[in-house]
Amino acid sequence: MAKFNDIKSLTADELKEWLSANGEKSFRADQIQNWLFCRQISSFDDMKNLPPQTREKLAKDFAIRSLIESEHLISVDGAVKWLFKTMDGHFIETVLIPTNGRFSVCVSTEIGCAMNCTFCRTAKMGFTRNLEAGEILEEIIRVNEYLTSTGEIDADGKPAQVTNIIFMGMGEPLNNLDNVHRVCCTLHNQKLFNLGRKRMTISTSGIVPKIKELVDRNTPCCLAVSLNSTNNERRSAVMPVNRIWPIEKLLEATDEYTRRTDNYVTFEFVLMKGVTCTDEAAKELIKICAPRRCKVNAIVLNQMDDPSLEAPTEEEVNRFLEKVRAAEIQITIRNPRGRDILAACGQLAYKQQKVANANTESA
Ligand code: SAH
Repeated sequence: MAKFNDIKSLTADELKEWLSANGEKSFRADQIQNWLFCRQISSFDDMKNLPPQTREKLAKDFAIRSLIESEHLISVDGAVKWLFKTMDGHFIETVLIPTNGRFSVCVSTEIGCAMNCTFCRTAKMGFTRNLEAGEILEEIIRVNEYLTSTGEIDADGKPAQVTNIIFMGMGEPLNNLDNVHRVCCTLHNQKLFNLGRKRMTISTSGIVPKIKELVDRNTPCCLAVSLNSTNNERRSAVMPVNRIWPIEKLLEATDEYTRRTDNYVTFEFVLMKGVTCTDEAAKELIKICAPRRCKVNAIVLNQMDDPSLEAPTEEEVNRFLEKVRAAEIQITIRNPRGRDILAACGQLAYKQQKVANANTESA
C-alpha cells in the first residue's frame, strides 16, 4: 500500500517545509495545526482562514482522518472502548477511563506487538506495524469528539476533553519511539493540546536502550515499567524481553531515568496466582522498591485462555498488598475497568482478528 499521508503526523517544521516547497507562506503551519488539533476539523474545506487554492493543494497531498470507527462500547462502569480500523485494514483499540473529573485515554501505539509476553492478549496477534504519529493522535481526537458529543462536563464545569494519556494499549511504545515522541511533543505543545508532562505516561516492557533514549530526547512524559516479576527466572518465563535486558539492567536504566529527570518510576505489577502474587514475590518486590523513588501499580491478571496463568483470589491480593504496604512501599491496585466490554489490552482487537481470520478461512 502507498504510504498514507496523514497530515497530523507532520511536525510544524515539516509542514513549513511542505508549504515553502508549494509556494505557500510558512505561517500557515500554525493555522493548519490549530484547525487539526484545537478545532479538530475533519475536512480541509473547514480551514476557513486558508485560501481555497491552499486547501486544494493540501487535500491533494494529505488526508486528515486515518481511522474508521468499527465499534464503540460503553461499560456499565463508565469506561468506553473503541475498535478502530486503520486505512490498511487492521484493528486497534482505544479506551477512555473517566475517573472523578479526569478523562484518561489508554492509546495503542502499534498494530499487534512483538514482545510476546505470555499473559498478554495483544501478543497473540503477533506484530503487524508501528502506528504513525497521526494515527495515535487521532485516537485522542476521536475521544475528544465523543466527549464533546455527549456534553460531558469536567471538574471545572467546562466541556470535558481528554486530560491524561497512558501509552498502555496495544503495542510496545518504546519500539515506536520516533512516533511516540512526536505525539508527546504535540500533546505537550501549549498552542495545541497543552497537556503537562505529568499527564502523559509511557509504559514499557523494558527496552533498556530506549529508556535511555527517552531521557536523552527529553520526551515530555512519565515512565512506567511493566516489572511483573521480581527475579530473572520468573520474569524471563513470562516476559521474553527479560532474556535480553534482565532485571539488573532494567533497574540501572530506571535509576538513571530517576536521576536525570528527577521523576519517580511507576512499576506495574500484574498479579498472577502462585507466580507473582506470593509472599516470596512480595519480599523480593520490597527489596527492589525500598531503596528507590518509585510507586507500584498492581494489576490483577485479566485471565485469558491459558489455564496455567490464573488470577489470584481477593484474599491473596490483599495479603500481597498488606505485606508490601507494611514496608512503606507505595502500592495501588488498579481496579479492572470495563470488563464487560473486553477493555483489557488487546482483547477486542484479538476477537476481531479471530473473526476476520475465520471469515477469510471460510471464504
Ligand atoms: N508494552 C507495554 C504497554 C502495553 S501492556 C508494556 O508492556 O508496558 C500495558 C500493561 O498491561 C502492562 O503493564 C502489562 O503488564 C499489562 N497487561 C497485559 N496483559 C494483561 C493481562 N492479561 N492482565 C492484566 N494486565 C495485563
